Amino acid sequence: MQHFDVVIVGGGHGGAQTAIALRGQGFGGSIAIVGRETEPPYERPPLSKEYLAQEKPFERLYLRPREYWADKQVELLLGRAVTAVDPNRRQLTLADGSTLAFGELVWATGGDPRHLSCPGAQLPGIHYVRTRADVDALMAELPQAQTAVVIGGGYIGLEAAAVLSKLGKQVTLLEALPRVLARVAGEDLSQFYEAEHRAHGVDLRTGMAVEGIEGDGRVTGVKLADGTIIPADVVIVGIGIIPSIGVLVAAGAAGGNGLDVDAQCRTSLPHVFAIGDCAAHANAFADGAVIRLESVQNANDMASVVAKVITGQEASYAATPWFWSNQYDLKLQTVGLSTGHDATVLRGDPATRSFTVVYLKQGQVIALDCVNCARDYAQGRKLVEQRVAADPAALADPAIPLKDLVPAS
Ligand code: FAD
Repeated sequence: MQHFDVVIVGGGHGGAQTAIALRGQGFGGSIAIVGRETEPPYERPPLSKEYLAQEKPFERLYLRPREYWADKQVELLLGRAVTAVDPNRRQLTLADGSTLAFGELVWATGGDPRHLSCPGAQLPGIHYVRTRADVDALMAELPQAQTAVVIGGGYIGLEAAAVLSKLGKQVTLLEALPRVLARVAGEDLSQFYEAEHRAHGVDLRTGMAVEGIEGDGRVTGVKLADGTIIPADVVIVGIGIIPSIGVLVAAGAAGGNGLDVDAQCRTSLPHVFAIGDCAAHANAFADGAVIRLESVQNANDMASVVAKVITGQEASYAATPWFWSNQYDLKLQTVGLSTGHDATVLRGDPATRSFTVVYLKQGQVIALDCVNCARDYAQGRKLVEQRVAADPAALADPAIPLKDLVPAS
């Protein structure tokens, strides 16, 4: 049986960054990344943006050149899923029955798309957007597709809708809740994006429950609760992910919606860490609530913490959350977590397509959503990190740079 000092399960953002950071910290032990996908680690965000839009070839998505991994002596075991972990023997089993032994295990498996469960949910022509293979399957059908229905008004659904409408498809977007982005942003931002999509010809409908998928051998439409059928040559579903934690929970790790980890990203099992989308952690920016974050930032920063802990350094996860989304010519940059805000301040006029929403809780700045406003994003970060109790009138005035509102230290 092969033994590696560190085995990383999952070759996505977090898994790749763990290996990169370990080598960066001078770790000289053996490292393997076991990944279910067949590609070397690549960037996931462009899958619903430039790659889907055919503006960026896949070769430009690799997180490191192919030769990097061999140069750094990181063994890539790709196209191989881990199916069982024995934490006492420190061994894991792969789908082909082979076994590996580990000194430290880093679980970086992300999540699988939540699937539709309504009648017709298995019909060909229904697509999810998580991996290169998912997007390639969708792209292969696009030349024949005139109509597309996107189910889910989160970031991935909205980004896919923007790309498909740019590609000339007739797009309908269905969101079950009363507004898009309801779980991650305030009403100002939701309304702005709803209007933008409509202005680009997307038939965006909120408060819409999907009853079933229509089709005969392949999808032909989406049936709503009121009986309306919306024609669809393809259906794209973006209704969230389920963290891929079953194998580790079966091995005895504590978790529910994600694997429970401490500030060093340790699970309840000795020598087993979990990071990225699948890690449930107490986050200071959520007032200490246990949450999962689904962002490149979170995966990378947790990976850095684990690399430090494995190399014997002090480290705790306390990174500032940030995220971005590209739709049409709009670049959204967010910093902090807006969940739990009790007031918002609009900074700038959304009609100019460059503005910022400031989220406050008990008078303190907890998050910013900056649309085409990189300056506010860069200058407002400290307001979030220090939870500054800034004057709302000053926050609302774009003529006052946000950096001027950060107290001198
Ligand atoms: P992943 O990158 O998902 O990697 C997990 C890997 O583990 C996968 O390759 C999976 O196949 C593999 N795996 C799972 N189970 C096993 C197993 N049992 N054995 C072996 N391998 C396994 N974030 C942003 O910050 N900004 C964005 O604009 C943005 N856009 C996005 C657009 C799309 C279409 C998607 C899907 C995500 C986007 N995200 C974005 C989120 C971001 O990509 C994720 O938060 C990030 O990839 C999480 O990294 P991870 O390492 O936790 O998981």
